[in-house]
Amino acid sequence: MNPPDRLKKKYLGCMLGAAIGDALGKQNEGLNRKDILGMGIVTDYGKARPGCPGEKLRAGQYTDDTEQMLVLAQSLIECNGLDAGDFAGRITKWGTDAQNDPVRKSLVGPSSSAAISRLNSGITWKESGSEVPSCGSAMRAAPIGLFYNTLDEIESKAALSSIPTHNSKGAIAGAVAVAVAVRCALWEKDCFEIIKETTGRTSKYDMALAKKIELSFGKKDVEPDKVFEEFCTSYMVYDTVPCAFYCFLRHFEAPENAILEAVNAGGDTDSIACITGSLCGALHGVDALPEKWLNGLENREMIEHLSNTIFEKKQRS
Ligand SMILES: [Mg+2]
Repeated sequence: MNPPDRLKKKYLGCMLGAAIGDALGKQNEGLNRKDILGMGIVTDYGKARPGCPGEKLRAGQYTDDTEQMLVLAQSLIECNGLDAGDFAGRITKWGTDAQNDPVRKSLVGPSSSAAISRLNSGITWKESGSEVPSCGSAMRAAPIGLFYNTLDEIESKAALSSIPTHNSKGAIAGAVAVAVAVRCALWEKDCFEIIKETTGRTSKYDMALAKKIELSFGKKDVEPDKVFEEFCTSYMVYDTVPCAFYCFLRHFEAPENAILEAVNAGGDTDSIACITGSLCGALHGVDALPEKWLNGLENREMIEHLSNTIFEKKQRS
């Protein structure tokens, strides 16, 4: 396979991997790991378990994580790069539509909800972002790593993309971590190099998050029960992002296993698996993702179209 074809498949793998992880992980969102293990782990698409925020969604349907990622991808394409004002406007429209949809309204996270209310009231995107260090800007950041070619640009644009909704240092650092790691995975850097680049960039914004991501590398051979208990799996960026890196690094050569590890981690399983899926897909490409998950995914063609559009734009530039 020639290098551009291989890279195109990695772009597809990144965005489809994120959506697959999200659609699988929504089935366990908010449940604790013990209960998931008691009920039986999730290994394929299905309806979310009762009480989960996505319980009204269909099997193979993704949640707010992927929806926000696709909004970011569309904004990048139409503005030919990150325009924070355009992105804030699109997120406001998306969030307002989601909040008015009985099936999707429970999916919008608290930080995004608060920011969208502020944006709707006329507050500018520079001041609308929540100070809560939740993972909403990290879970959607993957397209920044696809769109820009240098780590300097990826770092600065990922940080900027967080601000309209998530303006804490932790959330900003989380967006940087995911976008930088996606680009390193596209370049097929090894585990050690991915972590070194990612933590080096992340530490400029939040040392605590950088250290916990580094720890995920140190713990990759430790049993998941122990790691998820130690790390915690809440929707805070300090839990979600390091847990995703742990799943990715633990199963570095086995993307299906990495995604399922994340899906059954407990806590914010859709976001952990969304981030894990984006990293696995960027490293291995779409052909490494199980056919049954690709075929059963909602809006597969639309996601492929966005991914191919970003790829082609970058090939021309
Ligand atoms: Mg979600």
